[in-house]
Amino acid sequence: MKQSLEIFNTLVNELLADEVQNPLAKYIPSTDLYEQVDLTLQKEGISSQELEKALKDLVFATPRTATKAFFNQLFGGRQDKAVLGDLLAVILNNSMYTYKVAGPQIGVEKVILREICDMIGWDENSDGTLAPGGSMTNLMGLIMARDAFNEQTKFDGVQQKMTVYTSADSHYSTQKNAAFAGIGRNNVRQVQTDHEGSMDITALEEAIKKDIADGFHPIFINCTAATTVLGAYDNLVKASTIAKKYNIWLHVDGAYGGSVLFSEKYRHLIEGVENVNSFTLNAHKMLGTPLSCSLIVVKNKQHLYDSFSNDASYLYQTDHDDFNLGKTSLQCGRRNDALKFWVLWKSIGTNGLAELVEKQFELADIARDYVRKNPDYTDYSLDDTVAICFNYKNIPAEDLCTKLYENSELLVGYGSFKEDTFVRLVTVNATNEAEDILNFFSTLEAFMSKQT
Ligand SMILES: *Cc1c(COP(=O)(O)O)cnc(C)c1O
Repeated sequence: MKQSLEIFNTLVNELLADEVQNPLAKYIPSTDLYEQVDLTLQKEGISSQELEKALKDLVFATPRTATKAFFNQLFGGRQDKAVLGDLLAVILNNSMYTYKVAGPQIGVEKVILREICDMIGWDENSDGTLAPGGSMTNLMGLIMARDAFNEQTKFDGVQQKMTVYTSADSHYSTQKNAAFAGIGRNNVRQVQTDHEGSMDITALEEAIKKDIADGFHPIFINCTAATTVLGAYDNLVKASTIAKKYNIWLHVDGAYGGSVLFSEKYRHLIEGVENVNSFTLNAHKMLGTPLSCSLIVVKNKQHLYDSFSNDASYLYQTDHDDFNLGKTSLQCGRRNDALKFWVLWKSIGTNGLAELVEKQFELADIARDYVRKNPDYTDYSLDDTVAICFNYKNIPAEDLCTKLYENSELLVGYGSFKEDTFVRLVTVNATNEAEDILNFFSTLEAFMSKQT
């Protein structure tokens, strides 16, 4: 073990030093991958020196997601305390299904979930769990809604024509999850959005009414707290009125922007969250923990037991269900994703988490301001988001992003909203400073002026 930890330390120190000079790994076309990086496996093992060399080649060839040139996805940077927590979770290697095997780590998870339920304003009947990513926590929300609508479903399978509602700009997991849950992709209604990317609540109600008239059973409304491209927030107050009126489960996909829960300044974006049935949040996005750290909390914890509990005498041998978290989880063996979040939270406090969130909005304001004041840019962004959507000098966004990638200049992606396609710069890295954001633009401009 000692030798492996030494290799780890050496590699990490070399990587961290190199990242400062070279925030991007060299671009390797996928067609050349096996020529450029030796990934072969052989019958015989190799020496630890050879292994260290192979690992160094691999690590140095890997895209760098924690540097000041990475703006490609809704995560980035490194919160060192969260990294510390995750490294400990690997060494401890508990499985989070029973108290017997995970001991106080169960408490770590429970404390986080309790705090979040309290912040929402829910009582002790609420609870939650962690699953490997927002797609999976959203799936759990849908399964609970399905079973709450008809408790026989988990025994007999789906026997009714159930329908699900989500906005046209929501994350694709709703479609996948409807298929997984036996409801079917064709029974997901994609409700149109308004000009700011929020679900059109009048259209939502019309779709529900039509489905009821046509003999369908509406069971689930998914609101999005920050859509993946534009960063738009659906109106939870209005949506909950509809959910109540038609007795439909209301879920919030806050994988991206649900972390505004921590900020007094931005919490208004999820006003009404206390009235929903379930809510997901990815700490690995705006809160900066390593992947993955996704939570779902539910107002009435009985639904977690109803949909996910199971008996297994080979597993549950001591302690109460409350401490045997396997009774409410999607998986059997389960990684300790809670510890990294707890270590971060413990070290910087709830106020520190709020600052992380607010910092990202501040960085976004700087970027948006730059884009809006500069005539070479066309701006498509909303005001209160950490996504800055723009085009530069009418260069097609796809061309621009691909060129920046292939020339190892910047990693940034593009997206579409209604008729427009644009570059989407996301400031979800609270370790960046204003100058890093301005540097993004100067790098882009200098690179494009060298072209043609
Ligand atoms: C990222 C994201 C998801 C999916 O989360 P994963 O952890 O990547 O599975 C779901 N919904 C929204 C709105 C997202 O931005």
